[in-house]
Amino acid sequence: MTTGGVFGVHGTAIDAPVLGELRIASRTLIVVDEMGSIAEVLTPGDPDYGARHQLLAAAGALVELADGEYLLPGLVDLHNHAPQWPQLGKALDVSLAEWLGGYTFPLESRYQDIEFATSVYESLVDAMLANGTTTAVYFATLHLPATQRLVDICIERGQRALVGRVAMDAPDTCPDYYRDSSAAVAIEETIALIDYIESQPGNTAGLLSPVVTPRFIPSCSDELLRGLGRVVTEFGCHVQTHCSESDWAHGYGLDRYGHSDTTTYRDFGLLTRRTVLAHSNFISPADMEIIAAAGAAVAHCPLSNVYFANAVFPTRQALDAGVHVGLGTDISGGPSPSLFNAAYNAVAASRLHEDGVDANLVAGDRGSPATRITFAEAFWMATTGGGIALDLPIGVFAGGYSFDAMILDTAVPDTDLLIWPELDSPPKTSSRRSSTTPAATTWPKYGCKGKKCERRSSVPPLGGKYRRRQPGVGGSDQVSEAVDELRLVLVGCANRRVLD
Ligand SMILES: [Zn+2]
Repeated sequence: MTTGGVFGVHGTAIDAPVLGELRIASRTLIVVDEMGSIAEVLTPGDPDYGARHQLLAAAGALVELADGEYLLPGLVDLHNHAPQWPQLGKALDVSLAEWLGGYTFPLESRYQDIEFATSVYESLVDAMLANGTTTAVYFATLHLPATQRLVDICIERGQRALVGRVAMDAPDTCPDYYRDSSAAVAIEETIALIDYIESQPGNTAGLLSPVVTPRFIPSCSDELLRGLGRVVTEFGCHVQTHCSESDWAHGYGLDRYGHSDTTTYRDFGLLTRRTVLAHSNFISPADMEIIAAAGAAVAHCPLSNVYFANAVFPTRQALDAGVHVGLGTDISGGPSPSLFNAAYNAVAASRLHEDGVDANLVAGDRGSPATRITFAEAFWMATTGGGIALDLPIGVFAGGYSFDAMILDTAVPDTDLLIWPELDSPPKTSSRRSSTTPAATTWPKYGCKGKKCERRSSVPPLGGKYRRRQPGVGGSDQVSEAVDELRLVLVGCANRRVLD
């Protein structure tokens, strides 16, 4: 018998392979192969469990989680505007038109400066990893060199990412200083980015993927949408865009085409199994049927929706309709890089959807009954649901899945992630519609304030600067080089300086 893989991780693992159910498994042994994929997940009842554990330990290839450490799948952020990182938390008290014209477009236009782009994108990718996001779907800008730089940085840092060069050519809605000069140029550079990503020597493991990125219907001509649809058909790559986000955007699409954004994207060949539709607050039941039939996904961005979407996304209905739904931060419309915060806010948004907001209405007329979601469902969307949305084997601890993971360390001094062993017990069962998930204390209390939280995440392959042995974990001096190559230590928030 061999060790069965490059290295193993042993301890308490938490994931959510089934919607609405947390799986909390103590003494779990996860064996990771040479490609960074999960070879086996063994529990004490499995015949090979003891032998495999001994062999990995003897080979110095076992990471033993300490008390208070928990292994979680890496988070999947389905919607993130990378160039808007310096705008985080700004101008959230203005209208969408002012936010775009006065702040966002001027900022995004600066990415013709490759040095500026490099500094921002390095900061962003580090912060996303520090927040446990091991996969991100990025809008970049319309500048091809800067977008290629974002690709380079993700490969260097070891973050799985889908990166898109934004296409936007409509003169009526895009400013002169920040607009594609023609549909042809936007399509040509979209193809150039696809070629760039697929030919990168450092991308042999497929960590980076291209994503065709029409900004949204108001910013694109018919010629551009049609051309990008042809690119998707030819290359089979992912698509990301905004869909029926707000009263204005939804109405714009209706006025221009006579039907919803969902139908428009479908008609242009942009609605596929690999499409991620951001927001989608105004999609109808008929739209949900179309999206579900296509196998496309919605990136639910609950925090951003508060500021710019005019309504609450009907998460419960979308899930029940069979729509793939994951979560997005929507930096910087959403002013938090944490997908844990997005999960919190997804629950909060669903509560508002259920209860309504106008106290002048009687309770029965105020909201939409039975439309809340649970914390377990929100965690599923942040992990498993994100993987399903992207059609990638991530987000779950199961054989054949990529080992994209983080270790939450609740023993860090001054942490605000508090575990009370006498009070917080794992759930014996979980109900999909339960409003009180007992295990919620294991992760929803998670915060990222100041320098109080520490996380470790492992993403294959691993960039050089952030490689570091982990003192005190699994006898680090004995941990093999292979283990070291595949492990990433991340210290969150302000504490990132520890990595320098
Ligand atoms: Zn967006």
